[in-house]
Amino acid sequence: MTQFQNAAFYTSVNDIHLLPIHAGVEVAFAGRSNAGKSSAINALTRRNKLAFVSKTPGRTQLINFFKLDDKRYLVDLPGYGYAKTPSAIRAHWEQLLGQYLQTRTALQGLILIMDIRHPLKPLDLKMLNWFNPTGKAIHILLTKSDKLSKQRANLTLREVECFLHENYPNCNVQLFSSLTATGIFDASEIIEKWFNTKKPPVKGE
Ligand code: GDP
Repeated sequence: MTQFQNAAFYTSVNDIHLLPIHAGVEVAFAGRSNAGKSSAINALTRRNKLAFVSKTPGRTQLINFFKLDDKRYLVDLPGYGYAKTPSAIRAHWEQLLGQYLQTRTALQGLILIMDIRHPLKPLDLKMLNWFNPTGKAIHILLTKSDKLSKQRANLTLREVECFLHENYPNCNVQLFSSLTATGIFDASEIIEKWFNTKKPPVKGE
């Protein structure tokens, strides 16, 4: 399946007021710095350098938009949680991501990337708490699943599933590895389904 291989860089913004106006639907990717977000975007689009892997962690505060076609966009949100990020940049991040996730009407669903060895950290929960009240879909990729034994990876998967079931019933989770291509098909199917779901009408639009 190569639904997203036509992805092309569209625009970058670092100000909530400069978000692009288009007639399409967005699926956004968020995650802690170094969790494997860029690698996941590259794997899903089959494009090695679309999202830039191994940037200086904590520096990128841009929202990057990739266009699939006039109706579909993938959105790479700035990574979070890098310990050495200056507090002013963190504050900017909070404002940018919080507002984007809570108010962007074009946003159809959120793919949340977590390193399977460190899932559900406080900032991940912050993202869930920002986005969950919108009622839109959330799907977690437990990345780098190749770093754990199959048994250990499945155990973590079940633990995260249990937590979500209790706290965020809107949210699903799966194993993922950009290295071994684990879970790429399933994740692509979910994103495709979101793109094909009709956007609910928004009051005043
Ligand atoms: P980002 O900061 O979340 O965009 O993370 P990157 O995609 O840049 O990945 C951070 C590091 O983890 C890089 O060294 C990647 O090669 C590595 N990495 C990412 N995904 C995987 C994976 O699925 N398996 C393994 N073993 N390493 C990965």
